[in-house]
Amino acid sequence: VWVKGKYAIGVDLGATNVRVGIGTNEGRILEKICEKTDKSHGSEGISAQIIGMIYDLVNDAKINILGIGVGSIGPLDLKKGIITHSPNIPFNSVPLQEPIKREFNTSVTLLNDCNSAVVGERMFGAGKGFDNLVYMTLSTGIGGGVFVDGHLLLGKDGNASEVGHIVIDIEERLRCGCGKRGHWEAYCSGKNIPNYVRIRLKETVYRDSSLRKRVNGWSQEETTKMFFEEAENGDKTALDIVEDIGRLNAAGFASVINLYDPSIITVGGSMALNHESLILNPIKKYVPNYVINRVPKIQITPLGEDVVLMGAIALVYQQKHMLM
Ligand SMILES: [Zn+2]
Repeated sequence: VWVKGKYAIGVDLGATNVRVGIGTNEGRILEKICEKTDKSHGSEGISAQIIGMIYDLVNDAKINILGIGVGSIGPLDLKKGIITHSPNIPFNSVPLQEPIKREFNTSVTLLNDCNSAVVGERMFGAGKGFDNLVYMTLSTGIGGGVFVDGHLLLGKDGNASEVGHIVIDIEERLRCGCGKRGHWEAYCSGKNIPNYVRIRLKETVYRDSSLRKRVNGWSQEETTKMFFEEAENGDKTALDIVEDIGRLNAAGFASVINLYDPSIITVGGSMALNHESLILNPIKKYVPNYVINRVPKIQITPLGEDVVLMGAIALVYQQKHMLM
Protein backbone atom coordinates (compact mmCIF):
# COMPACT_ATOMS: atom_id res chain seq x y z
CA VAL A 1 0.00 0.00 0.00
CA TRP A 2 1.49 3.29 -1.10
CA VAL A 3 1.57 6.09 1.42
CA LYS A 4 0.76 9.65 0.44
CA GLY A 5 3.75 11.93 -0.01
CA LYS A 6 6.39 9.35 0.70
CA TYR A 7 7.67 8.80 -2.82
CA ALA A 8 10.10 10.57 -5.11
CA ILE A 9 9.96 11.08 -8.84
CA GLY A 10 13.21 10.53 -10.72
CA VAL A 11 13.85 11.67 -14.29
CA ASP A 12 16.70 10.35 -16.42
CA LEU A 13 16.89 12.67 -19.44
CA GLY A 14 19.15 11.33 -22.15
CA ALA A 15 19.75 12.41 -25.74
CA THR A 16 17.83 9.36 -26.97
CA ASN A 17 15.43 8.37 -24.18
CA VAL A 18 13.63 9.97 -21.24
CA ARG A 19 12.91 7.67 -18.33
CA VAL A 20 10.69 8.65 -15.42
CA GLY A 21 10.21 6.53 -12.31
CA ILE A 22 8.66 6.55 -8.84
CA GLY A 23 11.03 5.41 -6.11
CA THR A 24 11.42 5.02 -2.37
CA ASN A 25 14.10 6.14 0.06
CA GLU A 26 15.35 2.53 0.10
CA GLY A 27 16.13 2.65 -3.60
CA ARG A 28 13.21 0.65 -4.87
CA ILE A 29 11.77 1.76 -8.19
CA LEU A 30 8.06 1.02 -7.98
CA GLU A 31 7.21 1.88 -11.55
CA LYS A 32 8.98 3.44 -14.52
CA ILE A 33 8.15 4.55 -18.03
CA CYS A 34 10.36 5.36 -21.00
CA GLU A 35 9.85 7.44 -24.14
CA LYS A 36 12.05 8.67 -26.99
CA THR A 37 13.29 12.18 -26.16
CA ASP A 38 11.05 14.68 -27.96
CA LYS A 39 13.32 16.96 -29.98
CA SER A 40 10.65 18.02 -32.47
CA HIS A 41 8.63 20.50 -30.37
CA GLY A 42 11.19 23.20 -29.68
CA SER A 43 13.16 23.88 -26.54
CA GLU A 44 10.01 23.80 -24.37
CA GLY A 45 8.96 20.42 -25.79
CA ILE A 46 11.29 18.45 -23.57
CA SER A 47 10.02 19.79 -20.24
CA ALA A 48 6.45 19.42 -21.55
CA GLN A 49 7.20 15.78 -22.32
CA ILE A 50 8.63 15.18 -18.84
CA ILE A 51 5.60 16.85 -17.22
CA GLY A 52 3.28 14.62 -19.25
CA MET A 53 5.20 11.50 -18.26
CA ILE A 54 5.10 12.45 -14.56
CA TYR A 55 1.31 12.91 -14.81
CA ASP A 56 1.04 9.48 -16.43
CA LEU A 57 2.90 7.91 -13.53
CA VAL A 58 1.32 9.89 -10.71
CA ASN A 59 -2.22 9.47 -12.01
CA ASP A 60 -1.61 5.75 -12.36
CA ALA A 61 -0.20 5.54 -8.88
CA LYS A 62 -2.60 8.05 -7.27
CA ILE A 63 -0.01 9.47 -4.92
CA ASN A 64 1.37 12.82 -3.98
CA ILE A 65 5.05 13.36 -4.55
CA LEU A 66 7.74 14.41 -2.12
CA GLY A 67 9.91 15.99 -4.79
CA ILE A 68 11.40 15.54 -8.24
CA GLY A 69 15.02 14.83 -9.15
CA VAL A 70 16.35 15.22 -12.68
CA GLY A 71 19.58 13.70 -14.01
CA SER A 72 20.12 15.28 -17.42
CA ILE A 73 22.52 15.27 -20.31
CA GLY A 74 24.74 18.32 -20.12
CA PRO A 75 26.26 20.74 -20.25
CA LEU A 76 24.01 22.47 -17.72
CA ASP A 77 23.68 25.89 -16.19
CA LEU A 78 22.58 24.90 -12.68
CA LYS A 79 21.79 28.45 -11.56
CA LYS A 80 19.34 28.88 -14.41
CA GLY A 81 18.20 25.24 -14.30
CA ILE A 82 18.74 24.75 -18.03
CA ILE A 83 20.68 22.64 -20.53
CA THR A 84 23.04 24.89 -22.51
CA HIS A 85 24.54 24.26 -25.97
CA SER A 86 24.36 20.49 -25.79
CA PRO A 87 25.99 18.81 -28.80
CA ASN A 88 23.23 16.19 -28.61
CA ILE A 89 20.15 18.43 -28.61
CA PRO A 90 19.29 20.88 -31.39
CA PHE A 91 18.47 23.88 -29.12
CA ASN A 92 20.81 26.41 -27.49
CA SER A 93 18.98 26.42 -24.21
CA VAL A 94 16.46 23.98 -22.75
CA PRO A 95 14.62 25.09 -19.60
CA LEU A 96 14.07 22.17 -17.22
CA GLN A 97 13.79 23.18 -13.58
CA GLU A 98 11.34 26.11 -13.73
CA PRO A 99 8.60 24.61 -15.93
CA ILE A 100 8.50 21.36 -13.91
CA LYS A 101 8.56 23.21 -10.61
CA ARG A 102 5.79 25.56 -11.73
CA GLU A 103 3.62 22.62 -12.80
CA PHE A 104 3.93 20.50 -9.65
CA ASN A 105 4.76 23.13 -7.04
CA THR A 106 7.37 20.92 -5.42
CA SER A 107 11.16 20.90 -5.20
CA VAL A 108 12.97 20.03 -8.44
CA THR A 109 16.64 19.15 -8.07
CA LEU A 110 18.71 19.13 -11.25
CA LEU A 111 22.15 17.62 -11.82
CA ASN A 112 23.92 16.30 -14.88
CA ASP A 113 23.49 12.57 -15.49
CA CYS A 114 26.85 11.41 -14.11
CA ASN A 115 26.61 13.60 -11.02
CA SER A 116 23.14 12.24 -10.46
CA ALA A 117 24.44 8.69 -10.95
CA VAL A 118 27.20 9.07 -8.38
CA VAL A 119 24.67 10.36 -5.83
CA GLY A 120 22.57 7.25 -6.54
CA GLU A 121 25.62 5.02 -6.25
CA ARG A 122 26.49 6.47 -2.87
CA MET A 123 22.95 6.23 -1.49
CA PHE A 124 21.78 2.94 -3.01
CA GLY A 125 24.69 1.16 -4.73
CA ALA A 126 28.30 0.10 -4.31
CA GLY A 127 29.28 3.54 -3.02
CA LYS A 128 27.46 3.14 0.30
CA GLY A 129 29.73 4.18 3.15
CA PHE A 130 32.37 5.80 0.92
CA ASP A 131 33.25 9.51 1.10
CA ASN A 132 35.56 9.27 -1.91
CA LEU A 133 34.03 7.70 -4.95
CA VAL A 134 33.73 8.13 -8.69
CA TYR A 135 31.04 6.93 -11.06
CA MET A 136 32.15 6.57 -14.69
CA THR A 137 29.90 6.01 -17.67
CA LEU A 138 31.30 4.38 -20.79
CA SER A 139 28.44 4.66 -23.24
CA THR A 140 27.62 6.77 -26.31
CA GLY A 141 29.77 9.33 -24.50
CA ILE A 142 32.18 9.18 -21.56
CA GLY A 143 31.52 11.02 -18.32
CA GLY A 144 32.07 10.98 -14.59
CA GLY A 145 30.61 12.04 -11.26
CA VAL A 146 32.85 12.56 -8.25
CA PHE A 147 32.62 12.74 -4.45
CA VAL A 148 35.75 13.94 -2.66
CA ASP A 149 35.73 13.96 1.17
CA GLY A 150 31.95 13.53 1.13
CA HIS A 151 31.39 16.52 -1.19
CA LEU A 152 29.86 16.17 -4.61
CA LEU A 153 32.00 18.19 -7.03
CA LEU A 154 29.77 20.57 -8.99
CA GLY A 155 31.81 23.46 -10.37
CA LYS A 156 30.67 26.99 -11.28
CA ASP A 157 27.93 25.84 -13.69
CA GLY A 158 27.44 22.25 -12.52
CA ASN A 159 29.85 20.70 -15.00
CA ALA A 160 32.77 19.67 -12.80
CA SER A 161 34.36 16.35 -13.70
CA GLU A 162 33.71 16.38 -17.47
CA VAL A 163 36.35 13.70 -17.58
CA GLY A 164 35.42 12.41 -21.04
CA HIS A 165 37.22 15.46 -22.41
CA ILE A 166 40.55 14.72 -20.72
CA VAL A 167 43.25 14.87 -23.42
CA ILE A 168 44.76 11.44 -24.03
CA ASP A 169 46.31 12.02 -27.46
CA ILE A 170 48.37 15.13 -28.16
CA GLU A 171 48.85 13.82 -31.71
CA GLU A 172 45.19 14.94 -32.04
CA ARG A 173 44.30 12.14 -34.44
CA LEU A 174 40.55 12.25 -33.75
CA ARG A 175 38.06 15.06 -33.21
CA CYS A 176 35.59 14.89 -30.32
CA GLY A 177 31.86 15.66 -30.56
CA CYS A 178 32.60 18.84 -28.56
CA GLY A 179 34.74 20.08 -31.48
CA LYS A 180 38.16 19.77 -29.80
CA ARG A 181 40.77 17.16 -30.68
CA GLY A 182 42.53 14.40 -28.76
CA HIS A 183 39.82 13.96 -26.12
CA TRP A 184 39.32 10.54 -24.47
CA GLU A 185 35.70 10.38 -25.67
CA ALA A 186 36.79 10.82 -29.30
CA TYR A 187 38.57 7.44 -29.14
CA CYS A 188 36.75 5.23 -26.65
CA SER A 189 33.05 6.17 -26.51
CA GLY A 190 30.49 3.93 -28.19
CA LYS A 191 29.84 6.64 -30.75
CA ASN A 192 33.49 7.16 -31.64
CA ILE A 193 35.04 3.69 -31.45
CA PRO A 194 34.33 3.24 -35.21
CA ASN A 195 36.70 6.15 -35.95
CA TYR A 196 39.38 4.67 -33.72
CA VAL A 197 39.01 1.19 -35.21
CA ARG A 198 39.47 2.64 -38.70
CA ILE A 199 42.63 4.60 -37.85
CA ARG A 200 44.13 1.57 -36.08
CA LEU A 201 43.44 -0.58 -39.15
CA LYS A 202 45.14 2.05 -41.33
CA GLU A 203 48.12 2.51 -39.00
CA THR A 204 48.97 -1.15 -38.56
CA VAL A 205 49.60 -4.02 -40.92
CA TYR A 206 47.42 -6.81 -39.61
CA ARG A 207 47.43 -10.45 -40.56
CA ASP A 208 44.33 -12.04 -42.04
CA SER A 209 41.39 -10.73 -40.06
CA SER A 210 37.65 -11.02 -40.45
CA LEU A 211 37.33 -7.58 -38.81
CA ARG A 212 39.45 -6.08 -41.55
CA LYS A 213 37.45 -7.82 -44.26
CA ARG A 214 34.07 -6.85 -42.87
CA VAL A 215 34.58 -3.34 -41.46
CA ASN A 216 34.07 -1.44 -44.73
CA GLY A 217 30.60 -2.90 -45.12
CA TRP A 218 29.43 -1.57 -41.76
CA SER A 219 27.63 1.73 -41.15
CA GLN A 220 29.04 4.07 -38.51
CA GLU A 221 26.10 3.21 -36.24
CA GLU A 222 26.58 -0.56 -36.32
CA THR A 223 30.39 -0.65 -36.27
CA THR A 224 30.83 -0.54 -32.48
CA LYS A 225 28.42 -3.43 -31.97
CA MET A 226 29.95 -5.49 -34.79
CA PHE A 227 33.48 -4.71 -33.60
CA PHE A 228 32.75 -6.10 -30.14
CA GLU A 229 31.10 -9.11 -31.77
CA GLU A 230 34.32 -9.80 -33.70
CA ALA A 231 36.32 -9.49 -30.48
CA GLU A 232 33.95 -11.85 -28.64
CA ASN A 233 34.36 -14.34 -31.49
CA GLY A 234 38.11 -14.19 -30.94
CA ASP A 235 39.26 -12.21 -34.00
CA LYS A 236 42.88 -11.42 -33.18
CA THR A 237 42.85 -7.95 -34.77
CA ALA A 238 39.68 -6.95 -32.94
CA LEU A 239 41.19 -8.20 -29.67
CA ASP A 240 44.37 -6.18 -30.31
CA ILE A 241 42.27 -3.05 -30.79
CA VAL A 242 40.21 -3.89 -27.67
CA GLU A 243 43.54 -3.91 -25.83
CA ASP A 244 44.49 -0.52 -27.36
CA ILE A 245 41.12 0.92 -26.31
CA GLY A 246 41.78 -0.51 -22.85
CA ARG A 247 45.11 1.32 -22.65
CA LEU A 248 43.45 4.60 -23.63
CA ASN A 249 40.65 3.98 -21.12
CA ALA A 250 43.32 3.21 -18.51
CA ALA A 251 45.01 6.54 -19.24
CA GLY A 252 41.66 8.27 -18.62
CA PHE A 253 40.95 6.27 -15.46
CA ALA A 254 44.47 6.94 -14.19
CA SER A 255 43.95 10.70 -14.59
CA VAL A 256 40.70 10.39 -12.64
CA ILE A 257 42.47 8.41 -9.90
CA ASN A 258 45.40 10.83 -9.77
CA LEU A 259 43.07 13.84 -9.54
CA TYR A 260 40.38 12.61 -7.15
CA ASP A 261 41.99 9.72 -5.20
CA PRO A 262 38.76 7.68 -4.89
CA SER A 263 38.34 4.54 -2.76
CA ILE A 264 36.11 3.00 -5.41
CA ILE A 265 35.20 3.64 -9.07
CA THR A 266 31.94 2.16 -10.28
CA VAL A 267 31.40 1.86 -14.01
CA GLY A 268 28.15 1.95 -15.94
CA GLY A 269 26.88 2.89 -19.39
CA SER A 270 25.67 0.50 -22.06
CA MET A 271 29.11 -0.25 -23.50
CA ALA A 272 30.57 -1.27 -20.14
CA LEU A 273 27.42 -3.14 -19.08
CA ASN A 274 27.25 -5.11 -22.35
CA HIS A 275 30.96 -5.92 -22.63
CA GLU A 276 32.11 -6.04 -19.03
CA SER A 277 35.26 -8.14 -19.41
CA LEU A 278 36.41 -6.65 -22.76
CA ILE A 279 36.12 -3.15 -21.30
CA LEU A 280 37.06 -3.58 -17.64
CA ASN A 281 39.87 -6.15 -17.77
CA PRO A 282 42.27 -4.06 -19.91
CA ILE A 283 41.53 -1.00 -17.75
CA LYS A 284 42.49 -2.91 -14.59
CA LYS A 285 45.55 -4.31 -16.35
CA TYR A 286 46.97 -0.97 -17.55
CA VAL A 287 45.88 1.50 -14.85
CA PRO A 288 48.88 0.63 -12.63
CA ASN A 289 51.19 1.84 -15.44
CA TYR A 290 49.86 5.38 -15.18
CA VAL A 291 48.82 6.06 -11.57
CA ILE A 292 50.76 7.62 -8.74
CA ASN A 293 47.88 7.22 -6.25
CA ARG A 294 46.87 3.91 -4.68
CA VAL A 295 44.68 1.97 -7.16
CA PRO A 296 41.02 1.89 -6.01
CA LYS A 297 38.51 -0.88 -6.42
CA ILE A 298 37.08 -0.73 -9.97
CA GLN A 299 33.78 -2.51 -10.61
CA ILE A 300 30.57 -2.47 -12.64
CA THR A 301 27.75 -0.56 -10.94
CA PRO A 302 25.21 -2.87 -9.27
CA LEU A 303 22.50 -0.35 -10.28
CA GLY A 304 22.95 -1.23 -13.96
CA GLU A 305 21.04 0.84 -16.48
CA ASP A 306 18.91 2.41 -13.73
CA VAL A 307 21.86 4.21 -12.14
CA VAL A 308 20.94 7.73 -13.35
CA LEU A 309 17.26 7.20 -12.53
CA MET A 310 18.15 5.91 -9.05
CA GLY A 311 20.40 8.93 -8.68
CA ALA A 312 17.58 11.27 -9.65
CA ILE A 313 15.40 9.62 -7.00
CA ALA A 314 18.25 9.89 -4.47
CA LEU A 315 18.47 13.65 -5.19
CA VAL A 316 15.01 14.13 -3.68
CA TYR A 317 16.03 12.49 -0.40
CA GLN A 318 19.58 13.82 -0.26
CA GLN A 319 19.34 17.39 -1.43
CA LYS A 320 18.94 19.22 1.84
CA HIS A 321 21.82 17.90 3.90
CA MET A 322 24.24 16.83 1.24
CA LEU A 323 24.19 18.61 -2.07
CA MET A 324 24.05 22.36 -1.79
ZN1 LIG B 1 35.59 16.66 -26.17
